[in-house]
Amino acid sequence: MFSPKRHLILEWENVEQTLRETLRYRYNKNVTVDFYEECTLRLDYIRHLIDSVQGDDEPGLNDLMGKLNALSVLVTNIERSHLEEFAWPFAEALKRIYRDAFGKDVLFMFRAEGDLCSYAVRPESIRTGIFKRRINSVVFPRALKDSVLLHVIIGHEFGHAALVSDPTLNGIIRGLIAESVVAEPQKLFQWCADNIGVINRIDDGYLREKAYRWAVELFCDLFALVTMGPSFLPAFQSLLEILSFRPSQPYVGTHPPFASRAVMLLHAARSLELLYSERSSPNDLMQLSAPLDKGFVDLATKWAAGPFSILDPARVAQAAIELSQFAQNRPLLAFPAPDAQLISQLMRSIGDKVPPAGMYPATITASPDGAPLLAEPRIVDFRLILFAGWLTSSVEPVDKNEAHFRQVNRMCSHAIMQQEGIVHWLESEARLSAQGAT
Ligand SMILES: [Zn+2]
Repeated sequence: MFSPKRHLILEWENVEQTLRETLRYRYNKNVTVDFYEECTLRLDYIRHLIDSVQGDDEPGLNDLMGKLNALSVLVTNIERSHLEEFAWPFAEALKRIYRDAFGKDVLFMFRAEGDLCSYAVRPESIRTGIFKRRINSVVFPRALKDSVLLHVIIGHEFGHAALVSDPTLNGIIRGLIAESVVAEPQKLFQWCADNIGVINRIDDGYLREKAYRWAVELFCDLFALVTMGPSFLPAFQSLLEILSFRPSQPYVGTHPPFASRAVMLLHAARSLELLYSERSSPNDLMQLSAPLDKGFVDLATKWAAGPFSILDPARVAQAAIELSQFAQNRPLLAFPAPDAQLISQLMRSIGDKVPPAGMYPATITASPDGAPLLAEPRIVDFRLILFAGWLTSSVEPVDKNEAHFRQVNRMCSHAIMQQEGIVHWLESEARLSAQGAT
């Protein structure tokens, strides 16, 4: 039989062995070194703490076992993350837009889980204090591997990570829910009893915690709309509507009702002018986006004038605009304003069964001496590819033609992969020329 401290040392040696066996080889080769170094650093730090702890310090030993266990789970999750199980080009593109916003020291680890709706970003808490670089786990549903059009919903999950990285965003949450039932847990329980069949109140602490969860979930929807753009609306509708058809729940749940989220998104999309068909001034996207807009507007309008409209539209608009300014102050974070010419070019490509990727504008200009020059290459933002995909799919209602939706999705998925290839090539060219210059 081992003493608790001896057992801890043996377990530490086991985790060290696991780390040596796995991380060197199996994860994405470009980032394996980062994870290996970070995990090694954590392991060394835990060993230092184990060596210092007294053999009879029961809470101390227990705490270290917890830290070691968390590291073991992390190493195993990284080991089991395989590029074949999730849309890695999509993941790379996501990483680029969120990395700069939350600090270059954050590592993102992507993996798949079996649940059909297991989209998640699990940010490491700053308080754990045993790391140099935080590792955020990003989870995609395995069965939806290449469903990039639906993956837009992951923008919501990055909202949770954003809150951990930048707690000042809580100010926007307070403004969003002010004077609503979400801001007053007592009223929230009564609202749930009246409208969604909740019967058990539990206690004030429970209600306060759930009210905060609702506020955060609503904020994350807003965050997804601001960062991923109007494609979030059909992705949200497609994935979550069916999950809302569950029998009434006896307790106040963790998420606001689907209907309340849809109404908030409708107000927010209008205030950010992301429903292009509704803009007061004529614009070239008006016609293209009409069918897609209609699908979501018809859904959310059903609840906009009833009890499921739980937030003040003026406060939603204010929060949406503040969050949009927050995103625009960070490189790449905000959904880029779409250019109608580009969007129709991408839609034409999809119609021709060509992945909507490549440089834009794809034109040849003449140099001063008359020789032809290729226009300055420009990578198309992957969110615009997805927007063009959703617009194309909405021309034929998905309900009538799943094959068309799959085809459009495949084109978008290939386009993002091709573009990531171009980005990697450009980055390695830049690295090589930087090395040559030194
Ligand atoms: Zn959430």
